[in-house]
Amino acid sequence: MNNLAYLPQRELVCDLCKKFYAKGWASGTGGGVSIRVDDSNYLIAPSGVQKEEIESKDLFVIELIDCGYKIIEKPENLKISACTDIFVNIYKKRKEVGAIIHSHSINSVLLTKIVNGDHVTISKYEMLKGLEGCNYFGSHTIPILNNVENECDLADSVAEVVEKYPLSHAVLVRDHGVYIWGRNWERAKVHAECYDYLFEAFIKEKQLMNIISLKN
Ligand code: ZN
Repeated sequence: MNNLAYLPQRELVCDLCKKFYAKGWASGTGGGVSIRVDDSNYLIAPSGVQKEEIESKDLFVIELIDCGYKIIEKPENLKISACTDIFVNIYKKRKEVGAIIHSHSINSVLLTKIVNGDHVTISKYEMLKGLEGCNYFGSHTIPILNNVENECDLADSVAEVVEKYPLSHAVLVRDHGVYIWGRNWERAKVHAECYDYLFEAFIKEKQLMNIISLKN
């Protein structure tokens, strides 16, 4: 397997899949990871496989082209991720993005159940500083899309909200999860960890406020 192109980056994607599985972000074969490997080529984890068991040879290599993408390397007997069209649209709208994570984290899902409407704004948490361009005294708004039956049908709406919310590094999908990105894999991972913390804090804060208002 040592003649595989982009071997160190492939190993990195496998390692990230294991880490995200351990956090509960990719259980039941859900979730996904993609990283840029050069100017136009990207690695993408396959669909419907146990993310913690993925090996270097299981990854797809795609190239972005004007009308979408073409598959450069396809592992045998595996299907490309259902998120691919979404990843491609994010990469095309945000030229600086070097890695994208799709997570089914329970905090991202629960937050979309308690917030009505098409966005959520979070403020007054130190962890906002972990999001590029954010600070403690500002607020941060993340778009929320409604879920659809087939994940690829979200691709156009994701492209729209990525443009509409230029300061967000994430798109939430109601009852489903979240797409999070960064200019490289390290930044995407930091963003994913900070967002998950902030989503959990937002939910718990709302719970506490409800308890307090019931008592008063
Ligand atoms: Zn998903």
